[in-house]
Amino acid sequence: MLIYPDEYGLDPNDGYPQKKDFLVSRQEDGKGAGVYTKKDIKRGEFVARITGNIVPNIAQHTLQITPTTHLYDPYFTGYLLHSCAPNIFLDMTEFEIWALRDIEAGQALTMDYASTEDILFKQFPCLCGTPNCRFWISGRKEEVSPEGIRHIEEQLKALGRDSCEIVTLECM
Ligand SMILES: [Zn+2]
Repeated sequence: MLIYPDEYGLDPNDGYPQKKDFLVSRQEDGKGAGVYTKKDIKRGEFVARITGNIVPNIAQHTLQITPTTHLYDPYFTGYLLHSCAPNIFLDMTEFEIWALRDIEAGQALTMDYASTEDILFKQFPCLCGTPNCRFWISGRKEEVSPEGIRHIEEQLKALGRDSCEIVTLECM
């Protein structure tokens, strides 16, 4: 059984995500929204082929293909969580997901939103807790919002770190 709906008419043998391999949580089950793997995945392995509707605008659940085309996928990729140390990479040319590290059954698949998005639908504070966490996530080509700068400064202050570590341009 594929995760994508039957009306997409996909071939189940083409690598699209299967319900036996992944759980897409939309938050109401208490696990938190996200895409969780049900099987162990090895670093460098192919994870899944992805699809959706190609739309001209950024919205919730879209991923950038080009600056003017976006993949709207409210079934799978639209629920991928962000991490500043992601475990998957999305190839938006081939529409494929690959593992960047070993992922154990039960773990969430995580991507770096800035790896695909020039501009995010909405910037947000990051709670990924990884050593290189950027604390505030924005697209790769947009300015961090004033709210984001305040948030980053607060986080750095709480950690006793200098803001030059993150706001590098202003410090050079
Ligand atoms: Zn983070």
